[in-house]
Amino acid sequence: MTSPLVYASGSRPDRCARGHPWGPGAFILSWVTCDCEGAKSNPGGYGHHRIRCAAGPGCPSVWQDPPCWYAGMRKSPGHPEG
Ligand SMILES: [Zn+2]
Ligand SMILES: [Zn+2]
Repeated sequence: MTSPLVYASGSRPDRCARGHPWGPGAFILSWVTCDCEGAKSNPGGYGHHRIRCAAGPGCPSVWQDPPCWYAGMRKSPGHPEG
């Protein structure tokens, strides 16, 4: 599997979907609450750790762990908006 959009849950990718390296200070880590099926699998509470790319100006790439998905939806890795 070589797709840059596919990440194993629990491991932070080292770059965003657009290829910006996520070194120190190059991403913004936050927590978002959510009621999706993916969020319910999180032992720490209903929500996702969200990493937003800050390496490129205006880069919209966002990664979430666990992946955000709802029953009946095809499971997708985070929100690959980039
Ligand atoms: Zn980026
Ligand atoms: Zn969600």
